[in-house]
Amino acid sequence: MNPEDKKRRKFIKQMTGLGVLGLASGAGIYFAPELKANELRLRPPGAVEEDQFLKLCIKCGQCLQVCPYDAIELEDIDGGASVGMAYINPEKRGCYLCEAFPCMLACPSGALNHEHDNIKYVEMGIAVVSNMDACLALHNKKVPESAVDKIYDHTKVLSPDEYKNHRVNIIGDEKEKTKLQKQLLEKLDKFRGKACTICADMCPYPTPLDAIGMVKKDGGFLPEIREACVGCGACVELCPTSVLKIIPAETYASVYKKGKK
Ligand code: SF4
Ligand code: SF4
Ligand code: SF4
Repeated sequence: MNPEDKKRRKFIKQMTGLGVLGLASGAGIYFAPELKANELRLRPPGAVEEDQFLKLCIKCGQCLQVCPYDAIELEDIDGGASVGMAYINPEKRGCYLCEAFPCMLACPSGALNHEHDNIKYVEMGIAVVSNMDACLALHNKKVPESAVDKIYDHTKVLSPDEYKNHRVNIIGDEKEKTKLQKQLLEKLDKFRGKACTICADMCPYPTPLDAIGMVKKDGGFLPEIREACVGCGACVELCPTSVLKIIPAETYASVYKKGKK
């Protein structure tokens, strides 16, 4: 089965198997009004099946160190058996799907599979609309300044002036990591005061309209999650009003096995 077929199978499986979902009238919007806190952690791209991941991750932090977006964290003491292991908290910082997937390539233990360093293999999870009424687009509202400022405040690579003024100044010889994070903020800045479509416009999937699009709903718009969504969580981080959540995949391998039953 090719990766695209696997993804389609995963999408259908998750959308039906998780009970996600109401399908909003005619629009194809999948949402999860009763979605509880995720039990599984969102793992970095390339993670092997969760039970294998828990055995293989040696808590070395290599993936974290090479991530140019500071997306990866290591589980703290509250993480029980998985303390020290790598995960992504999309409410703090999503993954931005680096083309070369340095996190996977840096992993020395096989917890992140080097052979999956291509977007066609990435299946971290899937986004769902969990709080539809809060969506600014549904009510034709604009992106508040504070929503963009919040992303500045949790970005770790800025100068004191950039933090203070909430504006980036990209200079030629900056480190790649600094430049990438500033470019992200520069793109986000364009949405200040505009009608909110941040989730769709900032989706880092190479062909974002295959992963998310805005569709008409009740006089406004809502995000529609589509088959190609890989659950990177960027939309969750950037949404000003916490409309979206990620349901982590157990991994593409386990989803695939379940799909075959
Ligand atoms: S793909 Fe890039 S942004 Fe995402 S976790 Fe890996 S290194 Fe970080
Ligand atoms: S980012 Fe998307 S989901 Fe969040 S308020 Fe804006 S349009 Fe709605
Ligand atoms: S819709 Fe885009 S930004 Fe959101 S989780 Fe899916 S791929 Fe990532």
